[in-house]
Amino acid sequence: MKAAVLCGKEELNIVSDFDDPVMGKSDVLINSKYTGLCSTDRTLYRGFVPFKPPLIIGHEIAGVVEDVSASAKGLDVSDHVIIPPIYPGCEDETCSSCREGLTNRCKKSVFIGHGVHGGDTELITVPSRYTFKIDKGVPLDEACIIPDAVSTPFHALKSRSVPPHIFQHTSHPNRLFEGKSHWLQGKNAVVFGVGGIGGPAVNLAARYFQAKNVVAVDIFDKKLEFAKKLGATYTVNSRTYFEENDIAIKELTGKDKAKALSSLAKHISSHLAEDKYQVDLVVDCSGVPDTFPVAVETASKNRTIIQVGWPPKPVSEFLNQKIMDKYLTINGAWACPMNEMKEIVQAVENKIVDLNLLVTNKEYTLNRLENAIHDLEAGKILGRATISIV
Ligand SMILES: [Zn+2]
Ligand SMILES: [Zn+2]
Repeated sequence: MKAAVLCGKEELNIVSDFDDPVMGKSDVLINSKYTGLCSTDRTLYRGFVPFKPPLIIGHEIAGVVEDVSASAKGLDVSDHVIIPPIYPGCEDETCSSCREGLTNRCKKSVFIGHGVHGGDTELITVPSRYTFKIDKGVPLDEACIIPDAVSTPFHALKSRSVPPHIFQHTSHPNRLFEGKSHWLQGKNAVVFGVGGIGGPAVNLAARYFQAKNVVAVDIFDKKLEFAKKLGATYTVNSRTYFEENDIAIKELTGKDKAKALSSLAKHISSHLAEDKYQVDLVVDCSGVPDTFPVAVETASKNRTIIQVGWPPKPVSEFLNQKIMDKYLTINGAWACPMNEMKEIVQAVENKIVDLNLLVTNKEYTLNRLENAIHDLEAGKILGRATISIV
Protein backbone atom coordinates (compact mmCIF):
# COMPACT_ATOMS: atom_id res chain seq x y z
CA MET A 1 0.00 0.00 0.00
CA LYS A 2 1.01 3.63 -0.43
CA ALA A 3 2.38 5.23 2.74
CA ALA A 4 4.36 8.17 4.11
CA VAL A 5 7.17 6.44 5.97
CA LEU A 6 9.59 8.18 8.30
CA CYS A 7 12.84 6.22 7.94
CA GLY A 8 14.95 8.49 10.14
CA LYS A 9 15.35 12.14 11.06
CA GLU A 10 14.03 14.30 8.16
CA GLU A 11 13.81 11.21 5.96
CA LEU A 12 10.20 11.04 4.89
CA ASN A 13 9.62 8.67 1.98
CA ILE A 14 6.43 8.13 0.04
CA VAL A 15 6.43 4.44 -0.86
CA SER A 16 3.91 2.37 -2.77
CA ASP A 17 4.79 -1.13 -1.53
CA PHE A 18 4.41 -1.00 2.25
CA ASP A 19 2.89 -4.21 3.69
CA ASP A 20 -0.87 -4.09 4.34
CA PRO A 21 -1.78 -4.27 8.06
CA VAL A 22 -3.22 -7.49 9.49
CA MET A 23 -6.52 -7.30 11.39
CA GLY A 24 -6.64 -8.47 15.02
CA LYS A 25 -9.66 -10.32 16.41
CA SER A 26 -11.68 -7.24 17.37
CA ASP A 27 -10.23 -4.82 14.84
CA VAL A 28 -11.69 -2.93 11.96
CA LEU A 29 -9.75 -2.25 8.79
CA ILE A 30 -10.05 1.38 7.81
CA ASN A 31 -9.37 3.03 4.51
CA SER A 32 -7.65 6.20 5.70
CA LYS A 33 -8.95 9.11 3.60
CA TYR A 34 -7.64 12.26 5.30
CA THR A 35 -5.33 13.13 8.17
CA GLY A 36 -4.92 16.36 10.08
CA LEU A 37 -1.40 17.77 10.19
CA CYS A 38 -0.25 18.25 13.78
CA SER A 39 2.91 19.82 15.16
CA THR A 40 3.66 16.37 16.63
CA ASP A 41 4.21 15.19 13.02
CA ARG A 42 6.75 17.98 12.65
CA THR A 43 8.39 17.05 15.97
CA LEU A 44 8.79 13.45 14.78
CA TYR A 45 10.02 14.52 11.34
CA ARG A 46 12.70 16.75 12.88
CA GLY A 47 13.74 13.94 15.23
CA PHE A 48 12.94 16.00 18.35
CA VAL A 49 11.32 12.94 19.93
CA PRO A 50 12.55 9.36 19.61
CA PHE A 51 10.72 6.87 17.38
CA LYS A 52 11.41 3.47 15.89
CA PRO A 53 11.80 3.64 12.10
CA PRO A 54 10.31 2.79 9.71
CA LEU A 55 7.20 4.59 10.97
CA ILE A 56 4.06 5.64 9.12
CA ILE A 57 3.14 8.98 10.69
CA GLY A 58 -0.26 10.72 10.94
CA HIS A 59 -2.46 10.45 14.01
CA GLU A 60 -5.54 12.55 13.21
CA ILE A 61 -7.46 10.17 11.00
CA ALA A 62 -10.81 10.04 9.25
CA GLY A 63 -11.69 7.20 6.93
CA VAL A 64 -14.12 4.57 5.76
CA VAL A 65 -14.51 1.08 7.20
CA GLU A 66 -13.21 -1.45 4.66
CA ASP A 67 -13.54 -4.66 6.67
CA VAL A 68 -14.80 -5.77 10.08
CA SER A 69 -13.38 -8.73 12.04
CA ALA A 70 -15.63 -11.37 13.64
CA SER A 71 -15.59 -9.89 17.16
CA ALA A 72 -15.67 -6.22 16.15
CA LYS A 73 -18.73 -4.43 17.45
CA GLY A 74 -20.91 -1.53 16.33
CA LEU A 75 -19.42 -0.86 12.90
CA ASP A 76 -20.21 -1.90 9.36
CA VAL A 77 -18.37 -1.77 6.07
CA SER A 78 -18.59 1.72 4.46
CA ASP A 79 -19.24 3.52 7.79
CA HIS A 80 -17.41 6.83 8.11
CA VAL A 81 -15.18 6.87 11.18
CA ILE A 82 -12.61 8.85 13.14
CA ILE A 83 -9.84 7.36 15.30
CA PRO A 84 -8.49 8.96 18.50
CA PRO A 85 -4.67 9.26 18.38
CA ILE A 86 -4.18 7.62 21.78
CA TYR A 87 -6.08 4.55 22.89
CA PRO A 88 -5.62 2.13 25.79
CA GLY A 89 -3.32 -0.82 25.27
CA CYS A 90 -3.80 -2.49 28.65
CA GLU A 91 -5.91 -5.64 29.02
CA ASP A 92 -9.63 -4.66 29.10
CA GLU A 93 -8.88 -1.19 30.47
CA THR A 94 -7.78 -2.57 33.84
CA CYS A 95 -4.71 -0.42 34.51
CA SER A 96 -5.01 2.13 37.32
CA SER A 97 -5.49 5.09 34.94
CA CYS A 98 -8.15 3.36 32.83
CA ARG A 99 -10.01 2.23 35.96
CA GLU A 100 -10.22 5.90 36.96
CA GLY A 101 -11.75 6.75 33.58
CA LEU A 102 -8.52 8.21 32.20
CA THR A 103 -8.14 6.03 29.13
CA ASN A 104 -6.10 8.92 27.68
CA ARG A 105 -3.50 8.24 30.38
CA CYS A 106 -3.45 4.43 30.07
CA LYS A 107 -0.22 2.93 31.39
CA LYS A 108 0.12 1.12 28.06
CA SER A 109 -1.18 3.85 25.78
CA VAL A 110 -1.02 3.13 22.07
CA PHE A 111 0.13 6.23 20.15
CA ILE A 112 -1.01 6.06 16.55
CA GLY A 113 1.59 7.50 14.17
CA HIS A 114 4.27 7.38 16.85
CA GLY A 115 4.32 4.08 18.79
CA VAL A 116 2.46 2.19 16.04
CA HIS A 117 1.89 2.99 12.36
CA GLY A 118 -0.35 5.96 11.66
CA GLY A 119 -2.85 7.10 9.08
CA ASP A 120 -0.71 8.70 6.37
CA THR A 121 -1.31 5.58 4.33
CA GLU A 122 -4.16 3.77 2.64
CA LEU A 123 -5.03 1.18 5.30
CA ILE A 124 -4.92 1.04 9.09
CA THR A 125 -6.33 -1.39 11.68
CA VAL A 126 -7.74 -0.25 15.03
CA PRO A 127 -9.80 -2.05 17.73
CA SER A 128 -13.47 -1.40 16.94
CA ARG A 129 -14.17 -0.09 20.46
CA TYR A 130 -11.74 2.77 19.81
CA THR A 131 -13.18 3.71 16.43
CA PHE A 132 -15.99 6.26 16.34
CA LYS A 133 -18.67 6.40 13.70
CA ILE A 134 -19.50 9.82 12.29
CA ASP A 135 -22.40 11.03 10.20
CA LYS A 136 -21.70 10.92 6.45
CA GLY A 137 -22.81 14.56 6.26
CA VAL A 138 -19.60 15.63 8.00
CA PRO A 139 -16.88 16.00 5.32
CA LEU A 140 -14.00 13.61 6.04
CA ASP A 141 -11.41 16.26 5.13
CA GLU A 142 -12.69 18.21 8.14
CA ALA A 143 -13.66 15.30 10.41
CA CYS A 144 -10.03 14.17 10.56
CA ILE A 145 -9.12 17.04 12.91
CA ILE A 146 -11.65 15.92 15.55
CA PRO A 147 -9.49 13.15 17.07
CA ASP A 148 -6.80 15.54 18.36
CA ALA A 149 -7.15 19.23 17.40
CA VAL A 150 -10.76 19.32 18.64
CA SER A 151 -10.85 16.58 21.27
CA THR A 152 -7.76 17.74 23.20
CA PRO A 153 -9.04 21.27 23.99
CA PHE A 154 -12.56 19.83 24.40
CA HIS A 155 -11.39 17.56 27.21
CA ALA A 156 -9.34 20.39 28.76
CA LEU A 157 -12.32 22.75 28.83
CA LYS A 158 -14.91 20.18 29.81
CA SER A 159 -13.13 18.28 32.55
CA ARG A 160 -10.15 20.35 33.68
CA SER A 161 -11.61 23.84 34.06
CA VAL A 162 -13.79 23.56 37.17
CA PRO A 163 -11.97 24.59 40.38
CA PRO A 164 -12.28 21.82 43.05
CA HIS A 165 -14.01 24.01 45.65
CA ILE A 166 -16.81 24.73 43.17
CA PHE A 167 -17.90 21.09 42.82
CA GLN A 168 -17.35 20.42 46.51
CA HIS A 169 -19.97 23.05 47.26
CA THR A 170 -22.53 22.29 44.57
CA SER A 171 -25.58 20.10 45.07
CA HIS A 172 -25.41 18.52 41.56
CA PRO A 173 -21.68 18.56 40.75
CA ASN A 174 -22.04 16.37 37.64
CA ARG A 175 -24.01 19.11 35.91
CA LEU A 176 -20.98 21.40 36.10
CA PHE A 177 -19.34 19.13 33.54
CA GLU A 178 -22.29 18.79 31.16
CA GLY A 179 -22.40 20.68 27.86
CA LYS A 180 -25.65 22.58 28.41
CA SER A 181 -25.09 23.50 32.04
CA HIS A 182 -21.31 23.55 32.07
CA TRP A 183 -19.59 25.68 34.68
CA LEU A 184 -17.89 27.76 31.98
CA GLN A 185 -21.22 29.04 30.67
CA GLY A 186 -21.42 32.81 31.17
CA LYS A 187 -17.84 32.97 32.51
CA ASN A 188 -14.77 34.70 31.11
CA ALA A 189 -11.87 32.75 29.59
CA VAL A 190 -8.48 33.75 28.22
CA VAL A 191 -6.77 31.56 25.61
CA PHE A 192 -3.05 32.01 24.94
CA GLY A 193 -1.83 30.89 21.50
CA VAL A 194 -4.30 30.62 18.62
CA GLY A 195 -2.67 27.71 16.76
CA GLY A 196 -3.86 24.24 15.81
CA ILE A 197 -5.13 23.58 19.36
CA GLY A 198 -5.76 27.16 20.57
CA GLY A 199 -8.09 27.91 17.63
CA PRO A 200 -10.44 25.04 18.51
CA ALA A 201 -10.11 26.01 22.20
CA VAL A 202 -11.44 29.51 21.40
CA ASN A 203 -14.21 28.06 19.24
CA LEU A 204 -15.29 25.47 21.82
CA ALA A 205 -15.16 27.90 24.76
CA ALA A 206 -17.28 30.45 22.90
CA ARG A 207 -19.68 28.23 20.98
CA TYR A 208 -20.02 24.93 22.85
CA PHE A 209 -19.33 25.85 26.46
CA GLN A 210 -20.83 29.32 25.94
CA ALA A 211 -18.34 31.40 27.86
CA LYS A 212 -19.47 35.02 28.07
CA ASN A 213 -16.15 36.42 26.86
CA VAL A 214 -13.15 34.71 25.32
CA VAL A 215 -10.00 36.83 25.11
CA ALA A 216 -7.49 35.42 22.61
CA VAL A 217 -3.81 36.32 22.95
CA ASP A 218 -1.18 35.75 20.25
CA ILE A 219 1.72 37.55 18.57
CA PHE A 220 0.28 37.45 15.03
CA ASP A 221 -2.57 39.75 13.95
CA LYS A 222 -3.77 37.27 11.32
CA LYS A 223 -4.20 34.61 14.03
CA LEU A 224 -6.12 37.09 16.15
CA GLU A 225 -8.43 37.94 13.26
CA PHE A 226 -8.95 34.19 12.87
CA ALA A 227 -9.75 33.94 16.61
CA LYS A 228 -12.46 36.59 16.18
CA LYS A 229 -14.10 34.50 13.46
CA LEU A 230 -13.99 31.51 15.81
CA GLY A 231 -15.81 33.41 18.55
CA ALA A 232 -13.22 35.45 20.50
CA THR A 233 -14.79 38.57 21.99
CA TYR A 234 -11.51 40.43 22.43
CA THR A 235 -8.00 39.91 21.13
CA VAL A 236 -4.60 41.00 22.40
CA ASN A 237 -1.38 41.04 20.40
CA SER A 238 1.20 40.65 23.16
CA ARG A 239 4.12 41.55 20.89
CA THR A 240 2.42 44.80 19.80
CA TYR A 241 1.59 45.56 23.43
CA PHE A 242 5.26 45.35 24.42
CA GLU A 243 6.37 47.37 21.37
CA GLU A 244 3.84 50.15 21.95
CA ASN A 245 4.86 50.43 25.59
CA ASP A 246 8.60 50.40 24.84
CA ILE A 247 9.12 47.16 26.72
CA ALA A 248 12.07 45.16 25.36
CA ILE A 249 10.79 41.92 26.87
CA LYS A 250 13.58 39.72 25.49
CA GLU A 251 16.23 41.82 27.21
CA LEU A 252 14.56 41.84 30.61
CA THR A 253 15.29 39.47 33.49
CA GLY A 254 14.27 38.94 37.11
CA LYS A 255 11.97 41.52 38.68
CA ASP A 256 11.91 43.77 35.60
CA LYS A 257 10.67 40.90 33.47
CA ALA A 258 8.10 39.88 36.07
CA LYS A 259 6.82 43.47 36.14
CA ALA A 260 6.52 43.61 32.35
CA LEU A 261 4.66 40.27 32.18
CA SER A 262 2.36 41.45 34.95
CA SER A 263 1.56 44.64 33.01
CA LEU A 264 0.59 42.48 29.99
CA ALA A 265 -1.73 40.46 32.24
CA LYS A 266 -3.41 43.68 33.41
CA HIS A 267 -3.82 44.78 29.82
CA ILE A 268 -5.46 41.44 28.93
CA SER A 269 -7.97 41.59 31.79
CA SER A 270 -8.64 45.32 31.16
CA HIS A 271 -11.04 44.15 28.43
CA LEU A 272 -13.21 42.61 31.14
CA ALA A 273 -13.79 45.84 33.07
CA GLU A 274 -17.55 45.41 33.07
CA ASP A 275 -17.12 42.08 34.91
CA LYS A 276 -14.73 43.59 37.46
CA TYR A 277 -11.78 42.12 35.50
CA GLN A 278 -12.87 38.59 36.39
CA VAL A 279 -10.92 35.86 34.53
CA ASP A 280 -12.44 32.48 35.39
CA LEU A 281 -10.23 30.31 33.23
CA VAL A 282 -6.88 30.63 31.51
CA VAL A 283 -5.95 28.09 28.84
CA ASP A 284 -2.32 28.05 27.76
CA CYS A 285 -2.06 26.59 24.26
CA SER A 286 0.99 28.65 23.35
CA GLY A 287 3.83 26.26 24.13
CA VAL A 288 5.87 29.34 25.16
CA PRO A 289 7.55 29.22 28.60
CA ASP A 290 6.99 32.96 29.31
CA THR A 291 3.24 32.51 28.99
CA PHE A 292 2.91 30.70 32.30
CA PRO A 293 3.82 33.70 34.51
CA VAL A 294 1.38 35.83 32.48
CA ALA A 295 -1.28 33.13 32.93
CA VAL A 296 -0.73 33.17 36.70
CA GLU A 297 -1.05 36.95 36.74
CA THR A 298 -4.11 36.91 34.46
CA ALA A 299 -6.21 34.30 36.31
CA SER A 300 -8.53 35.63 39.00
CA LYS A 301 -8.40 34.34 42.57
CA ASN A 302 -9.68 30.78 43.20
CA ARG A 303 -9.70 29.95 39.50
CA THR A 304 -7.95 27.55 37.10
CA ILE A 305 -5.11 27.53 34.60
CA ILE A 306 -4.97 24.63 32.13
CA GLN A 307 -1.68 23.79 30.45
CA VAL A 308 -2.47 22.40 27.00
CA GLY A 309 0.51 23.55 24.88
CA TRP A 310 3.82 21.84 25.51
CA PRO A 311 6.58 24.38 26.33
CA PRO A 312 10.01 23.41 24.99
CA LYS A 313 11.60 24.07 28.39
CA PRO A 314 10.33 24.39 31.96
CA VAL A 315 9.30 27.77 33.35
CA SER A 316 12.12 29.25 35.39
CA GLU A 317 10.13 31.54 37.68
CA PHE A 318 7.36 29.40 39.04
CA LEU A 319 5.63 32.17 41.03
CA ASN A 320 4.84 29.82 43.90
CA GLN A 321 3.73 32.58 46.23
CA LYS A 322 1.33 34.02 43.69
CA ILE A 323 -0.16 30.58 43.01
CA MET A 324 -0.73 30.13 46.75
CA ASP A 325 -2.02 33.63 47.35
CA LYS A 326 -4.47 33.40 44.45
CA TYR A 327 -5.49 29.85 45.47
CA LEU A 328 -5.09 28.77 41.86
CA THR A 329 -5.80 25.36 40.44
CA ILE A 330 -3.12 24.44 37.88
CA ASN A 331 -4.26 21.57 35.68
CA GLY A 332 -2.43 19.64 33.03
CA ALA A 333 -4.43 18.23 30.14
CA TRP A 334 -3.51 15.47 27.76
CA ALA A 335 -5.49 14.15 24.77
CA CYS A 336 -9.05 13.01 25.49
CA PRO A 337 -10.57 10.00 27.26
CA MET A 338 -12.80 7.66 25.22
CA ASN A 339 -15.93 8.47 27.24
CA GLU A 340 -15.91 12.06 25.94
CA MET A 341 -15.48 11.24 22.24
CA LYS A 342 -19.19 10.62 21.56
CA GLU A 343 -20.13 14.04 22.93
CA ILE A 344 -17.59 15.69 20.62
CA VAL A 345 -18.87 13.77 17.59
CA GLN A 346 -22.39 14.89 18.49
CA ALA A 347 -21.31 18.53 18.84
CA VAL A 348 -19.73 18.34 15.38
CA GLU A 349 -22.75 16.62 13.83
CA ASN A 350 -24.96 19.35 15.32
CA LYS A 351 -22.64 21.93 13.76
CA ILE A 352 -21.79 23.55 17.11
CA VAL A 353 -18.10 23.26 16.27
CA ASP A 354 -17.02 25.25 13.20
CA LEU A 355 -14.88 22.59 11.52
CA ASN A 356 -15.14 24.43 8.20
CA LEU A 357 -13.42 27.45 9.79
CA LEU A 358 -10.88 25.44 11.77
CA VAL A 359 -9.59 23.61 8.68
CA THR A 360 -7.90 26.35 6.66
CA ASN A 361 -5.74 24.31 4.26
CA LYS A 362 -7.02 21.42 2.17
CA GLU A 363 -4.58 21.59 -0.73
CA TYR A 364 -2.04 19.00 0.46
CA THR A 365 -1.86 15.42 -0.79
CA LEU A 366 0.22 12.58 0.66
CA ASN A 367 2.93 13.28 -1.94
CA ARG A 368 3.23 16.83 -0.58
CA LEU A 369 3.25 15.91 3.12
CA GLU A 370 6.82 17.11 3.52
CA ASN A 371 5.89 20.50 1.98
CA ALA A 372 2.96 20.71 4.39
CA ILE A 373 5.31 20.11 7.34
CA HIS A 374 7.63 22.87 6.07
CA ASP A 375 4.70 25.25 5.61
CA LEU A 376 3.46 24.48 9.13
CA GLU A 377 6.91 25.26 10.46
CA ALA A 378 7.08 28.51 8.50
CA GLY A 379 3.79 29.69 10.02
CA LYS A 380 1.99 29.53 6.67
CA ILE A 381 -0.90 27.46 8.00
CA LEU A 382 -3.41 29.56 9.92
CA GLY A 383 -5.64 26.84 11.39
CA ARG A 384 -5.33 23.13 10.62
CA ALA A 385 -4.12 21.63 7.34
CA THR A 386 -5.52 18.31 6.23
CA ILE A 387 -3.74 15.77 4.04
CA SER A 388 -5.60 13.93 1.32
CA ILE A 389 -4.38 10.33 1.18
CA VAL A 390 -5.60 9.47 -2.33
ZN1 LIG B 1 -1.74 15.87 17.21
ZN1 LIG C 1 -5.06 1.22 30.69
